[in-house]
Amino acid sequence: MSDRRASILREMGLAPLWRLRQHNSQVADETPTAVGSTAVTPTPATDDRVAQIAAMDWPQLKDAVAACRACRLCEQRKQAVLGVGDIHPDWLFVGEGPGAEEDERGEPFVGQAGKLLDNMLAAIGLKRGRKVYIANAVKCRPPANRTPEPEETASCYPYLVRQIQLLQPRLIVALGKPAAQTLLNADVKIAAARGRVFEYATTPLIVTYHPAYLLRNLPDKAKAWEDLCFARATLKRRSESA
Ligand code: URA
Repeated sequence: MSDRRASILREMGLAPLWRLRQHNSQVADETPTAVGSTAVTPTPATDDRVAQIAAMDWPQLKDAVAACRACRLCEQRKQAVLGVGDIHPDWLFVGEGPGAEEDERGEPFVGQAGKLLDNMLAAIGLKRGRKVYIANAVKCRPPANRTPEPEETASCYPYLVRQIQLLQPRLIVALGKPAAQTLLNADVKIAAARGRVFEYATTPLIVTYHPAYLLRNLPDKAKAWEDLCFARATLKRRSESA
C-alpha cells in the first residue's frame, strides 16, 4: 500500500481495518431485484410536468432546476444544486439534499460530509469529476438540514430520473436511506440492503451509509469502505461480462 493510500485510509479512520474482507457470496449476490425497476409517479409531479422534464436536454434541465418552484423547499434556498462532475460518468453517487455550504456554493457535498466523501472516493481510486458524478435526491436545501419530506423527494424525482437518463452511469451508489428509498421506491434499511446489487432500470445500484451518518458513527466507516470496494468489484465484473 502506498503512503498516500495509507494516509487516506487513516483519514477515513480505517487504518487498522484497511484489508478488504471477502464478501459472503450469499449476501453479496448479484441477483437483480424487481425493486426500483419501475419509476415512481410522484403525487405533486403531474404527468405533464414529468413528460416535460423527461424530454429536457442538459441546459434545459439546469435552467428548470434553477428556476424550480414545485415544492416548498424553493422558499428558503439560496440556489438549487443540480449536481457536479463528469457528465459521462462510470459512477453516480446520490446523496440526500444540499446542506448550508452546498446551498451557498451551488455544489453538492462540499461541507464536512463532502470532505469525507472525497476521502472515500480517493480510497478506491476515484476523484470527484473524473468519471464520477455527484447528485442529490432533492436539489434544494431542506431548512435546518432536516430530512426531505416524501412529497419533496417525489416532486424532485423527475429531475433525478432525467439526470440519470442523460448521464447513463455504469453504476449508482445511493448514499443513505433517503437516496436509497427514492431510487428503489421501497422502504430500505441500509444495514440490510448493504452488500446487494439492486437495479435502477438496467443500472446496478449499491447502497451504503451517508457520509454525514459516518461522521457521527465512526466504526461504520469500515463498512462503507467495504461497500465501495464491493461496488468497484461489481462495476469491474459487469464491464468484463459486457
Ligand atoms: N449531504 C447530502 O446528502 N448532500 C449534500 O450535497 C451535502 C450533504
